[in-house]
Amino acid sequence: MADAGRVAVRVVMLGAPGAGKGTQAERFAKSRGIPRISTGDILREAVQAGTPLGRAARATMEAGRLVSDEIMIGVIKERLEKKDVDAGFVLDGFPRTVVQAEALDAMFDKGTPLVIVDIEVPEDVLVKRLAERRICGNCGWGATPGVNACARCGGPLVQRSDDGEEIVRERLRVYWRNTQPLVEFYSRRDTFRSVDGDQTLESVAADLSAAVASVIGGRP
Ligand code: AMP
Repeated sequence: MADAGRVAVRVVMLGAPGAGKGTQAERFAKSRGIPRISTGDILREAVQAGTPLGRAARATMEAGRLVSDEIMIGVIKERLEKKDVDAGFVLDGFPRTVVQAEALDAMFDKGTPLVIVDIEVPEDVLVKRLAERRICGNCGWGATPGVNACARCGGPLVQRSDDGEEIVRERLRVYWRNTQPLVEFYSRRDTFRSVDGDQTLESVAADLSAAVASVIGGRP
């Protein structure tokens, strides 16, 4: 349970690969003292650690396709059982299909507002950003544009193995095919907001905060 009188902030971030949803989710979660839950990060850690989950997901991820709904729903269910989500969370990368969204709805009582924010960025900007994106070769942390070492562990920056040009094209195709129907599914709700992601980091962050505040009240 969240503290009495404190509204849990439960946010789902939608957006194509490269839309900046990871960066924005991290920033927003930090400002609210709630966890950012990235299914991509959970899977990459599992791949690095060679766990059964990592072994099941590796080839699918490397091909730029989606890991099965069954596996992903299990992953998120387990994560949302931890105590640190009581005051809220920001989901980054989940759900990605309508089936996953329906499973997420079933995990919470109807009284809890789920704020859905779609970060919109034109395709040519996405392709350019993904080509330039770097992560830490040691810990997998996403790098801030313009820096040349990992902000978390100081490790060297590398390109994500699924950010190569061909795989990026496949990931964008997969996104339009599976995740766009999800945007349509959520856009019928009055807790859905879309934010222009083709702006400075600060402007997107401000619009995101204002979008969440417009649903649940409180400070932007
Ligand atoms: P991301 O870091 O969110 O771009 O995720 C990297 C990869 O992990 C994706 O291309 C998928 O292969 C896999 N993945 C992450 N989240 C999901 C999800 N919710 N459903 C299916 N596959 C996922």
